[in-house]
Amino acid sequence: MGYDIKDQIVFITGASAGIGQATARQFAAAGCHLILTARRVDRLQILAQELTQKYHIHVHHAAIDVSRLESIESVLNDLPESFTNIDILVNNAGLALGVNKAHENNPEDINTVIDVNVKGVLWLTQAIVPGMVSRQRGHVINISSIAGHEAYPGGSIYCGSKHAVNAITKSTRMDLAGTSVRVTAISPGLVETEFSQVRFRGDAQRASQVYQGYEPLVANDIADAILYAATRPPHVQIADMIIFPTAQASATIVAKKE
Ligand code: NAP
Repeated sequence: MGYDIKDQIVFITGASAGIGQATARQFAAAGCHLILTARRVDRLQILAQELTQKYHIHVHHAAIDVSRLESIESVLNDLPESFTNIDILVNNAGLALGVNKAHENNPEDINTVIDVNVKGVLWLTQAIVPGMVSRQRGHVINISSIAGHEAYPGGSIYCGSKHAVNAITKSTRMDLAGTSVRVTAISPGLVETEFSQVRFRGDAQRASQVYQGYEPLVANDIADAILYAATRPPHVQIADMIIFPTAQASATIVAKKE
């Protein structure tokens, strides 16, 4: 049970997989109209078709690379009129690349992860939130991580990027105090998505090991939390939610059975 968000317009980044895709499904079931974005537009097209047919909502989808400001601007400039008053922005697109030690990082990985995870959030915020402020209504939901609260060995780029997301989330909330626009961070622990396949560059065995020996979260568990934050009454602002699988106790402590 929550506040009715039917007919609200939700902009989701990284809607082609994992948490973003599950979030799209949950907002669709709540009767929201969706702007689905990611680079793999073929997947967005299939999801848009499924959700339009199932929930009779309006869905716009567009290819976006959140690490490129011109890509973000082009998608926003081309939004159909009925999608321009965005109510909820879910900054979900993100990735980790490898687990190198800080002194052995590859410069390209540094650029990619910081550009997507950090600059992407800042760029989308500055592009979409002014409209929320002028309408005196809106909600920014940034998908952070336990890696935004704790560091771990081999996490210099990813933990650094998610600590930045947490700082950005807090500053944004301060900047928007008094505007009715809410700002939330959602900080998952281990969720079984394509995340580890991306991190380990398609090494399926290494990726699957991350989720062996315990029951990890699934994307829908995080989508639940996102929907919970979005469906609180307008005077309630969820600041941050840290969500672990039951077997996980910190960024580095996971009780795995042999
Ligand atoms: P995922 O299954 O790999 O999905 C990542 C999504 O991000 C994909 O839709 C991907 O779409 C999109 N993306 C990546 N680079 C992009 C770019 N340059 N421009 C636009 N979209 C881009 O991973 P996930 O687990 O759902 O991750 C979603 C968020 O949760 C990320 O911010 C991640 O850091 C965070 N998170 C995940 C976990 C976990 O254990 N899985 C834990 C904590 C936090 P395209 O490839 O089609 O562009």
